Amino acid sequence: MLNDRSQPPLEIVVFPMLSDNYGFLLHDPASGDTAVVDPAEAEVTLAACSVHGWRLTHILNTHHHGDHVGGNLALKAKTNCTIIGPAYDRDRIPGIDVAVDEASGADFGGRHAQVFFVPGHTRGHIAYWFAADKALFCGDTLFSLGCGRLFEGTPQQMWSSLLKLRALPDDTRVYCAHEYTQSNARFALAAEPENAALRSQAEKVAKARSAGAFTIPSDIGTEKACNPFLRADQSDLRRRFGSVDASDADVLGAIRAAKDRF
Ligand code: ZN
Ligand code: FE
Repeated sequence: MLNDRSQPPLEIVVFPMLSDNYGFLLHDPASGDTAVVDPAEAEVTLAACSVHGWRLTHILNTHHHGDHVGGNLALKAKTNCTIIGPAYDRDRIPGIDVAVDEASGADFGGRHAQVFFVPGHTRGHIAYWFAADKALFCGDTLFSLGCGRLFEGTPQQMWSSLLKLRALPDDTRVYCAHEYTQSNARFALAAEPENAALRSQAEKVAKARSAGAFTIPSDIGTEKACNPFLRADQSDLRRRFGSVDASDADVLGAIRAAKDRF
């Protein structure tokens, strides 16, 4: 199914859960369908829905970690919502109804989301891209100014995954699952201190956080300019983190290892 350009845009709401997770509500005004991406907690998700008078119909999961699927079963019991998640990890997604991959994509609210297989943080991680709505839901793969830890994947897998997301249009809004931006900025500045775009972005982030504002969504253009994990093939980062014959994935791995120690 193609996106119908006469459709009203998805309404997207960001709400915090646990200590630093974000959930996202996606509401299609035409059908009334409402999805939550990665519900850590059921009660908080239902409270966010009721603020807007929306009835939950779908869950979209990016990966199996508890801070992303923790609310699945309670939400399904209360709302009978449909749970969509990664086919590769269907055994690890509680209550999964619809298993999706890059070939199937994901249908929600009269739209078709493109699904990207983005292993690295976990072996089955996926991201959802709503092209007409310019919105990417990327879980713990890409963070603003950072990327997820490599729990189950290799630097090569994560680099390939990040390249898929980097190829999206610059004005794609990036809805990542954690508010890690300010601490990511500290590492990014240490990794690439001469990056002027990064310095000004770090100032914007500091101002937003001191005002209590969310730094999410970011956008692909900003991340391409500022996020060291999307810039492992840039010369300054290669020089600092790679040997002469290092592959881009090797450089990415070295940047990730340095961040783990930071
Ligand atoms: Zn995770
Ligand atoms: Fe997480």
